[in-house]
Amino acid sequence: EFRPADRIGDLGVSEILTITARAQALRRDGRPVIILGAGEPDFDTPDHIKEAAIGAIRRGETKYTALDGSPELKRAIRAKFARENGLSFAASEVTAGAGAKQMLYNAMMASLNPGDEVIIPTPCWTSYLDIVRIAGGAPVPVPCPAEDGFRLTAEALEAAIAPRSRWLLLNSPSNPTGAAYGAEHYRPLIEVLHRHPQVWLMVDDMYEHIVYDDFRFVTPLALDPSLKPRCLTVNGVSKAYAMTGWRLGYAGGPAALIAGMAVVQSQSTSCPCSVTQAAAIAALDGPQDFLAARRDSFARRRDLVVTALNRIDGIDCRRPEGAFYTFASCAGLIGRTTPEGRVLQSDRDLCDWLLDAADVAVVPGSAFGLSPYFRISYATSEAELTEALARIAAACARLS
Ligand code: PLP
Repeated sequence: EFRPADRIGDLGVSEILTITARAQALRRDGRPVIILGAGEPDFDTPDHIKEAAIGAIRRGETKYTALDGSPELKRAIRAKFARENGLSFAASEVTAGAGAKQMLYNAMMASLNPGDEVIIPTPCWTSYLDIVRIAGGAPVPVPCPAEDGFRLTAEALEAAIAPRSRWLLLNSPSNPTGAAYGAEHYRPLIEVLHRHPQVWLMVDDMYEHIVYDDFRFVTPLALDPSLKPRCLTVNGVSKAYAMTGWRLGYAGGPAALIAGMAVVQSQSTSCPCSVTQAAAIAALDGPQDFLAARRDSFARRRDLVVTALNRIDGIDCRRPEGAFYTFASCAGLIGRTTPEGRVLQSDRDLCDWLLDAADVAVVPGSAFGLSPYFRISYATSEAELTEALARIAAACARLS
């Protein structure tokens, strides 16, 4: 009988994947299910990026490259950090792997000893918790309620810091809430970090390019360069350039940490895909103007979803600054009874019922560490979103 290693314990694959798989199975059975679960843009990878990859294949760039990114890719990454974030990194201070997820994984594996704590504002992308656990660390989730805009406050950070604290992990704009930190939100947190030099800062800037209205994206290291010896800035091409399947993420940080991350990668995946590296160089070096049009399209969808949700009795949705998610409270629906006579006890019950009764797949807040909420990914067409929201509204109207 298979006995999992202690480090895996009872960890399962993510709840989001489970729900998506159930929804897809219903679809195969002929049900017209609309899936608002996936964390990926519905746009296509731009042609100039695809062409760069095809060119690389034709030129025979199909062999191993340097372990954590070719010199050309590292040049493009350093240029990106300088151009877009005002960050200056040496070649020894940047690294690339198979997704931002691998960057986070490499960093945790390279830095955590058993019991080392990682402070994680929640609700959060659940992978953070499991990556820390697999690396032997102890995640310390810090609740960040809607009243605080789902953002970590300086007081909550100060209270969470303990002798074993190793990292603070921040994600802005956030998956699942879409909440983003401006300079005014980061500054008080940085002040707290100055009082605790043993705590390092890991920032996940994956949704940097997906921000709305007059919100201005900023990354903490740009606000305070003195953090450089203890800050890892993680990013990737998946969300900005609609490249989720290509698998390329990158990070900038202190050379010793970057070297440790390369050791982890050298005995797991080796170099990122050579063809993908050519595509990523084209993405980072190439035209950026199409991002604005995509942003505008995401903003229209956000407005459509937030407006429709807030019209539903029992649902309350904050207007997010970025990413392509809404994270709405369904507190007003908990305790209500479905036409089949089922009492909705939790956000999971609600999401199960919406899938059964309304053919719409959304993800319960419990999957991200805060209930009763549900996440909608609005990276899908306005027509589908309109239909899905009409179905949710009609279903909720049938609750008593
Ligand atoms: N960070 C956040 C907050 C995400 O939501 C995701 C993907 O869902 C990732 C990182 C991982 O991105 P990648 O495709 O680069 O591994």
